Amino acid sequence: MSDRAPSVFSRIIAGEIPADVVYDSDRLIAFRDINPQAPVHVLVVPKTEQYANVGELAAGDPELLAELVATAQRLAADLADGDYRLIFNTGEGAGQTVFHVHAHVLAGGLTEGSLA
Ligand code: 5GP
Repeated sequence: MSDRAPSVFSRIIAGEIPADVVYDSDRLIAFRDINPQAPVHVLVVPKTEQYANVGELAAGDPELLAELVATAQRLAADLADGDYRLIFNTGEGAGQTVFHVHAHVLAGGLTEGSLA
């Protein structure tokens, strides 16, 4: 069991913090980012908080990572025109602020050349 406090995403998963949920399954949840950086900005998050970043997830549960990517792809098609940018910030130096692995799905009229 983790000795860390539950992440903000675990609190959303537990229903303790409201979120605009766009997808919910046994192992994944997706909701709109509170501070959107694109017309469509969704976070796809494993329900387990066992993995802090995408490298840990890839090593520990590659099938769940594949499911996460497939979900991101489907959401980009459902919520925008199907084109999207998938970002995993990994480490504080790369801007990661929540250490519960999540993918940013950015879609819907992205600014050419920008990374976020
Ligand atoms: P990171 O910087 O770790 O890659 O991304 C964390 C993301 O979580 C940020 O884009 C931030 O806006 C989003 N976020 C943080 N707290 C909340 C929250 O309570 N609700 C929602 N919907 N998004 C959040």
